[in-house]
Amino acid sequence: MTVHRPEPDRDSREWWERVARREFAVQRCAGCGADRFPARAFCPACRSEEWRWRAVPPEGRVESWIVSHQPFVPGLAAPYVVVMVRLAAVPGCLVHGNWRGDREPRGGERVRAVFRDVGEDLTLVDWEPAR
Ligand SMILES: [Zn+2]
Repeated sequence: MTVHRPEPDRDSREWWERVARREFAVQRCAGCGADRFPARAFCPACRSEEWRWRAVPPEGRVESWIVSHQPFVPGLAAPYVVVMVRLAAVPGCLVHGNWRGDREPRGGERVRAVFRDVGEDLTLVDWEPAR
């Protein structure tokens, strides 16, 4: 079975490297100060191409979720749950990842990231209920 692997590109490569070091970061625009995720080359608000990484707490709230029946995430058998999380530190940023709870997520519940190594060269960000 072939599974989809996230492919780091020019904009996201360093983000994946940081995830592998257990750091969750967003980009902060040097022009207007807006935070953004996922990584991109310029600011959608002011078009500035100057920015830096900013580590933020990997915490948020469940915005929505889906039950996937497609085995497109490495290391997981279908069906599984993918959640969309609104970052607490950056309310404009939504992050998706695998659900690690032992029940279905609830809308608005607090969650935190769990870093999960898949093989030797890939680390994914999963989400579990915050304690
Ligand atoms: Zn900007």
